[in-house]
Amino acid sequence: DRIISANLMMEDQAVELSLRPRYLNEYIGQNQVKENLKIYIEAAKMRNEALDHVLLYGPPGLGKTTLANIIANELGVNLRTTSGPAIERPGDLAALLTNLQEGDVLFIDEIHRLHRTVEEVMYPAMEDFALDIMIGKGPSARSVRLDLPSFTLIGATTRAGLLSAPLRDRFGVISRLEFYTVDELAYIVSRASEILGVEIVGNAAEEIALRSRGTPRIANRLLKRVRDFAQVRGDGIITQALAEEALQRLQIDPRGLDEIDHKMLKSMINSFRGGPVGLDTIAATIGEESQTIEDVYEPYLLQIGMLQRTPRGRIVTDLAYHHLGLPVPPRDAK
Ligand code: ADP
Repeated sequence: DRIISANLMMEDQAVELSLRPRYLNEYIGQNQVKENLKIYIEAAKMRNEALDHVLLYGPPGLGKTTLANIIANELGVNLRTTSGPAIERPGDLAALLTNLQEGDVLFIDEIHRLHRTVEEVMYPAMEDFALDIMIGKGPSARSVRLDLPSFTLIGATTRAGLLSAPLRDRFGVISRLEFYTVDELAYIVSRASEILGVEIVGNAAEEIALRSRGTPRIANRLLKRVRDFAQVRGDGIITQALAEEALQRLQIDPRGLDEIDHKMLKSMINSFRGGPVGLDTIAATIGEESQTIEDVYEPYLLQIGMLQRTPRGRIVTDLAYHHLGLPVPPRDAK
């Protein structure tokens, strides 16, 4: 796996548990989303009602699961966590829902991967807090309605567009998580160092933040790698020079691009004159799934302006040529 992948890796799990903020005031960045949620949470508590269903979307590693946990903490209710593909049959969902207590949060990660039959059971559950169950078979079959405790569904997905319209329409709050700024990530890195008990000095946190692709999960992972390097090669203290050296060894360039990003951009330049190139063609050249490129790798490159999306495919921007130290070809030659 690429070290700059925003997907959860085995090595992240233990560290992420200890680093995960537990309340809104510890959750850095995403100010718009936070402000809105604060009000909705407050209002739900005042009315003593369950919070409206919340859909969180955005690239992996930006803090959707963390936010779901925080919402449950702030509401003072239990959180049940599952994922779309894990709920195989309507009965599995019924079991989950009937075990909830009044006001609880059910978090479903990868909610766009819910099975159709399960999704249909979800509609009345979200709308009326009810389950419609079929009893019997053939002509004597009838539907029985079962009341559920009121609950909050929090769904997470990489792209809101992946959800079916009827499901999306049933969320009262739809929030998009954005990439984090370098300052926010530097703060996250400093906070994480404190929790991990490692000293980080000078601009070392910024150095790590710059290469973290706007993503807290990557920032925490890079910090852990740099810490190992500091312990083995130095005196355990993370300085800027040490961070730079460690990250260079990991082949992560100053904007957080790794050798596969370089390979992708260069092949687009060398074989396709910088594009436009179709996503599937790019995927084939670097041996990744189109879906992974679209959801995990490309959003950051688009965000920092190294790639552009057009109806005819992806284009390498002038900025990317500069970044790779290549001459920008004249406009009409591209
Ligand atoms: P997602 O569910 O979007 O893939 P997570 O919620 O699992 O992402 O976040 C990954 C890790 O990044 C968390 O364990 C946490 O340590 C860190 N993190 C995410 N968002 C924040 C934040 N706003 N402030 C501090 N740390 C964060």
